[in-house]
Amino acid sequence: MSLRVGVDIGGTWVDAAAVEVVAGGHRVVARQSVRSIRGPAGVLGGLRTAYGLLLEELGTGARVAALGIGVPGIVSGGRVTHAVNLGLDGRPLDLAAEAAALTSAPVLVENDVKAAAWGAAHWLRSSGDGHGQDLALLNVGTGLAAGLVLDGVLRRGDRGLAGEIGHLVTDRSGPPCPCGKQGCLELYASGGGLARRWAGSAAELMAAAAAGDPTATGVRDDLVAGLAQAVRILVQTTDVADVVLAGGVVTSTPALQEALLAALRDHGDSGFEQTLAVDERVRWLPEDYPAGSVGAALLPQPQEPVTPTTSPRTGVGTGRPGG
Ligand SMILES: [Zn+2]
Repeated sequence: MSLRVGVDIGGTWVDAAAVEVVAGGHRVVARQSVRSIRGPAGVLGGLRTAYGLLLEELGTGARVAALGIGVPGIVSGGRVTHAVNLGLDGRPLDLAAEAAALTSAPVLVENDVKAAAWGAAHWLRSSGDGHGQDLALLNVGTGLAAGLVLDGVLRRGDRGLAGEIGHLVTDRSGPPCPCGKQGCLELYASGGGLARRWAGSAAELMAAAAAGDPTATGVRDDLVAGLAQAVRILVQTTDVADVVLAGGVVTSTPALQEALLAALRDHGDSGFEQTLAVDERVRWLPEDYPAGSVGAALLPQPQEPVTPTTSPRTGVGTGRPGG
């Protein structure tokens, strides 16, 4: 069996998946996760351990045709910089070279949110209703960032920074951001931003706000407004068919999903807003779908076509895979 392997190196977990490409789609045949360890040696150790456990699970006879790695930070030529959450903010780490020691298969390294966007494209495609060619993945994690698949092509950008919307300033008199500016969107609309302002979970925040707690109400309103702004920015700059929201803060909090959809449906008197129909484009990535590792596994090799599907798009529609 010929398989493609993806490893998603996150701030908390290193997730590995083996993916079989089948007619019209893909199938995840094995998954392994290990705890992340910060720093260059820890990151490389996590990669080796997760990959090794996955090969063990697959057993003899499995042939790895490609290894893809998703990692936070700025990725260029297989090297990663500015992955602050992994403790890789010093000199560039040449992940591609290190990973080449694990396998004779070709190795590709990509920013984690971009890899997850590619994974989300394959998830949408699996619904069979023509979606998956044109989307933004909004990742609400420790930070806030998006990945873009436009007309079937993963958009990296001139400097690999496409979709980095978390550091748009939303309140110039807001608190300082680790990026050096003030009042950035991700200070309000991310898991990390929420943790700085609220001691409990997002579900507890929504419950406390619904019960009238003034602190919770303020934090909730900022969170919902920030997420709505992020979704609108993505739709108004790219007009993508789907905006897929990922990250436990939103995907495991139904009350927050409802509040976000309500905010996006609130058009005021704007016919323009109504035409955008932003709320109809929102999808929730299923919590158990490993978009990061699947996307890394399926990253297009240089000799392959870049589109995730050859089937034509059939229009916008309202199908919502996974609910
Ligand atoms: Zn910032």
